[in-house]
Amino acid sequence: MTSRQPTISSVIIVGAGPSGLLLALLLAELSPRPEITILDAAPTLNEAPRATHYGSPAIQLFRKAGILAEIRRDGYMPEKICWRKLDGERICGYDRSLLHDGGLDGDGLTVYWVGRLCALLERELKSRTGVGVKWGHKVTSLKSGLHRNDKSATIEVETPDGNGVTSYTADYIVGCDGGNSTMRRLMFGQRNFPGFSWDVPIVATNTVIDLDRFGWEDTQFVIDREHWFMAARIGAHEDPKQNIWRISYGEKAGLSNEELMERQEMKFEQMLPGHPKPDKYEVLNKSPYRVHQRCVEKMRVGRLLLAADAAHLCNPFGGLGLTGGIVDVGALMQCFEGMQKGVADDHILDVYCKVQRKMWHDIINPVSTANIKRLYMQDPETALADDEMLQLIKKAETDLELSRELQSAGNMLVYDYTQHYKRSSEAVAKL
Ligand SMILES: Cc1cc2nc3c(=O)[nH]c(=O)nc-3n(C[C@H](O)[C@H](O)[C@H](O)COP(=O)(O)OP(=O)(O)OC[C@H]3O[C@@H](n4cnc5c(N)ncnc54)[C@H](O)[C@@H]3O)c2cc1C
Repeated sequence: MTSRQPTISSVIIVGAGPSGLLLALLLAELSPRPEITILDAAPTLNEAPRATHYGSPAIQLFRKAGILAEIRRDGYMPEKICWRKLDGERICGYDRSLLHDGGLDGDGLTVYWVGRLCALLERELKSRTGVGVKWGHKVTSLKSGLHRNDKSATIEVETPDGNGVTSYTADYIVGCDGGNSTMRRLMFGQRNFPGFSWDVPIVATNTVIDLDRFGWEDTQFVIDREHWFMAARIGAHEDPKQNIWRISYGEKAGLSNEELMERQEMKFEQMLPGHPKPDKYEVLNKSPYRVHQRCVEKMRVGRLLLAADAAHLCNPFGGLGLTGGIVDVGALMQCFEGMQKGVADDHILDVYCKVQRKMWHDIINPVSTANIKRLYMQDPETALADDEMLQLIKKAETDLELSRELQSAGNMLVYDYTQHYKRSSEAVAKL
């Protein structure tokens, strides 16, 4: 009896952010395990204040990867989320403590800093598989892989030893190299990212501050035409020393990064409850960001694939950015698994491209767009009367079934690719 050759013997992942690291950890579970190479241009993990909140599709994948227990131990599950006016008046909100298990059978929204997530993923990858990230390895150009009949894909990489470029070849290369993706440019050229950028920049901070004394809840979205912001507790409840909040606010268009940083003290004084001077809080880190709504036209070309921010971006209000990226990772994993087991051919990667793009267009883009508009493009005094989503949330305060339904909405991002095993090419035609 001859044994079947594995379909995938090697995969290169470009980018050791959360999506690339999680994909590497999951691919290491495939049998037979392909050779996994993970390259990152940076010298080490990115510590900038970015993702903190993960929705239920991400939680399900963290469980599958065997890292949920540690995430839950060091992170926490927020109970109360509300919308307020600038003067602190509460408009409406959710209270998850009223629902058994957060209403989501253990998959409820969880807060965990993305820097910690990456460190955990890197550690697990190394200890379970011996695979380490090749830091300081910057992908610069593409030699092959753009065509369907290419037998493999090859990229050129600048290495930290300064010895010029080295080539890396694999059956598939997955670009998880973030919003400024080189892989995306190599696949599509300069006009590579359809969509638009918001005029208003945002500033994200991690700040030690006492907001409990104002009766503030785990997360609040403050609606105001000028001083709109989100303040979310990102330390653990039990430990008062971790009274750390992610405070992210919108700013005026046209300011330079230096101006944005200089204005932070003034913004905090004007917008936060109690109008605090800098001696009342400590900013641990802060970063300006431009925010975008963009999605590539294809997430698969030949032997090259894109996932997460490299493929699509959205503004961070509502925590759909990385959660959407992690959904891509779970989808790719299911596709590769079917191929490796010999029950799907590589048409399933075209299904991946169609389904994940559709999810961005039908769900992630409209929902995240509505989330940011809700904060500054309406009159806070009439928001409850004008905004149907706020009305639903208000109704859900006393209708727990509705509350459960609204909080489970993230599960619409979960798609079962096993239904296309054996019939991938038919599926591509139908979708
Ligand atoms: C303020 C803010 C708050 C956010 N909050 C949330 C949230 O609460 N929940 C949520 O779900 N999402 C949130 N997001 C979005 C989330 O942070 C991103 O979606 C996520 O970090 C993207 O992960 P990634 O792995 O795709 O890319 P990245 O984390 O950007 O990683 C890309 C990696 O690729 C490497 N790279 C780049 N170019 C090359 C190259 N040429 N060669 C090799 N390597 C390269 C980079 O060094 C980097 O390490 C937030 C974003 C912001 C800005």
